[in-house]
Formats: sequence, structure tokens, C-alpha cells
Amino acid sequence: MRLCSHNTAFCREDFIRFFERKVFRTIEKFQMFSPQSRILVAVSGGKDSMALLHFLRKHDFNVDGYYLHLGLGEHSDRSLKKVERFRDRSGIHVIVEQSSDLLKMDVNEAARRLRRPVCAVCGSLKRYLMNRAAVKYDVLATGHNLDDEAATLFGNLLHWQTGYIRRQSAVLEEKGELVRKVKPLVLMSEYETAHYAFFEGLDSVTAKCPWSKNATSIRYKAVLNDLEFRMPGTKERFLKGFLTERESIFSLSADREPELSPCVSCGYLTSAGTCSVCRMRERLKET
Ligand code: AMP
Ligand code: ZN
Repeated sequence: MRLCSHNTAFCREDFIRFFERKVFRTIEKFQMFSPQSRILVAVSGGKDSMALLHFLRKHDFNVDGYYLHLGLGEHSDRSLKKVERFRDRSGIHVIVEQSSDLLKMDVNEAARRLRRPVCAVCGSLKRYLMNRAAVKYDVLATGHNLDDEAATLFGNLLHWQTGYIRRQSAVLEEKGELVRKVKPLVLMSEYETAHYAFFEGLDSVTAKCPWSKNATSIRYKAVLNDLEFRMPGTKERFLKGFLTERESIFSLSADREPELSPCVSCGYLTSAGTCSVCRMRERLKET
């Protein structure tokens, strides 16, 4: 395979070695976890989180998986099947939860009743349930890749969303019951992860969530990919520079993290008195 960002080409074995070394270096650079850490990997059925779970198990990390079934029709069912197949083949313990157990309805229905975008309801539920599932672990790892994170940063810079920019990092430290979060694939491009998953024989869902089709992040990714095509290595330099320098940038900033306290209803840490999921559930009872 050709890798323009590094001006080189690899055979299968060399690429796997290159990819794994780079992930190991990322874990060390950002001090994500140690060989003893208990790691919960949030696995969506897509290539990135599958590749991450596979990589960690292959290198003997203490790892379990977590899949959240969001009831988004065929997409969720197909993703669950891929995760179950992966679990059966690898023997990795995977926790499976249904968001409808909490809301008593699927996400589409909740979003309709709350008059909120599906992606907003889905995002709140994912954060909430993943944090809850991870309380018995040292870290929660997600499969966010270079393309995801560079597009997020680009979008946030375009609109000067300083609060979001401040919070974006490869590691989010634990806060009370909110477990430490890490993104070990943060410097691996979609192209690299797709090749790794393919070379390692992983079977993942290729279709994107049907609700993400119009997401603005797709437009930001297209702009960054155009730059990458003309100037290979741009995407990684853009994100890596930010992730490495963010502390020195923000020590100059007057921005402050909001104080968190337990939700009055469920105990989940929140910056409001009642957390967003409990507020959602209360409003759903009224509809
Ligand atoms: P996304 O926000 O869909 O781009 O996903 C980013 C990361 O969140 C994935 O790489 C997974 O680690 C995790 N994730 C997304 N959806 C799910 C899900 N339904 N269940 C478990 N983890 C998920
Ligand atoms: Zn709550």
C-alpha cells in the first residue's frame, strides 16, 4: 500500500508493524494507560473501534468491549451483529446495552418528542451510558481517528467554539466518577485504520449511521482531504501540533472549566443541577 503522508509504500507485514508501532507511540506520548490498566473499549461495529479492540487484545492488554444499541433501525442491528461475531471469534467480553432500557423508547421517537436533533439525543445517551458502564474500569477508550479529530478541531476553530476547543484532547482526565477517556487512534488516519482492519481480516460495518449523512463534519473532512491530497501530511501536522501544544495555549487562556456536581436525580456528574439525560427523561414523561 502507498502512504503519501509518509512518502513511502509498505507490504502487508511492514504496514501492520508500522501501524502498531505508531499506536504504541501515541499511547506512550499521551500516557494513556499502562499494561496493568483495565480498559473498556467503546465498540460501534465500525472499523476504527474494532481495530482498536483487536490491537489491544493482540498485545495482551486487559480489555473488554462495550456496545450500545441505539435502536437506529437496520444500522444498529447490523452493527450489533458484527460486534457479536467479533466477540464470538475473539473471546473478548463485550457488554451490550440498549438505550431503550433507559428511555423506554427508541432514540428517533425520543428525539421527535423532545423536538431535538437525533444526533444530539444520541450523543447525550452515548456519553451517559458509556461513562456509567466504565465505572469499574481505569479508562474508557474510543476509536476516534485522525480524520474525526482534525475535522472537529477545524470546525471548532472556524466558529471559535473556545469551550469545545479547550476540551478536545487525546486524553480526558477522570473527574470523580467520570472515568478517564483516551483516543489511542487519534493520530491514525481513516485510510491507515481501514488498511489495518483489512490486513488483519476484521469484519466491520462499512455503512455510516444514516443520520450522519448531512453532518457538517463530512464537509470539513472533504476540505481537509483536499489539502492532504495537495500537501501530504497536513492533517497529521494540524492535529498533532494542537494536541501537543494545547496545554501551553490554554495556560494563557482565561477560560475556566465548569464545576461539576452530582445530578440530583441519578448522581451522574454534571455542570447543571440535573443532568441532560435526566432532564430528557423528565420531559419525555410530560409528552
Ligand atoms: P462516532 O461518534 O460515531 O464517530 O464514534 C466515535 C467512537 O465512539 C467510536 O469509535 C466508538 O469507540 C464509540 N461509539 C460510537 N457509537 C457507539 C456505540 N453505539 N456503542 C459503543 N461505542 C460507540
Ligand atoms: Zn441524572
